Amino acid sequence: MTVPKSFVMAGNRWHVRLRKRLDGYGLCDFTTHTILIAETVGGRPTTPEERFKTFIHEALHALEFTMGRDADEEFVSAAEQLIYQAFRTARGSHGEI
Ligand SMILES: [Zn+2]
Repeated sequence: MTVPKSFVMAGNRWHVRLRKRLDGYGLCDFTTHTILIAETVGGRPTTPEERFKTFIHEALHALEFTMGRDADEEFVSAAEQLIYQAFRTARGSHGEI
């Protein structure tokens, strides 16, 4: 599981940047199409798993914004857990696509 540096959603390129510290694990900036991911939280380095989950979470907020939907933290948090579980338990590969 890797966190990309950027991706395209509905024609907009979103940039993903790591920050030493944020208020929380991540942030989705709709005005600049940027996702920020914290390298530390409470003085403790975030784990690769936490960074990946944060990426999923913030990408879901980007999806809500792209689809013109209001932010739904409950849905995003639940979807984050389920998508992360799917990736973590994935088996096999069809190779790069
Ligand atoms: Zn959120």
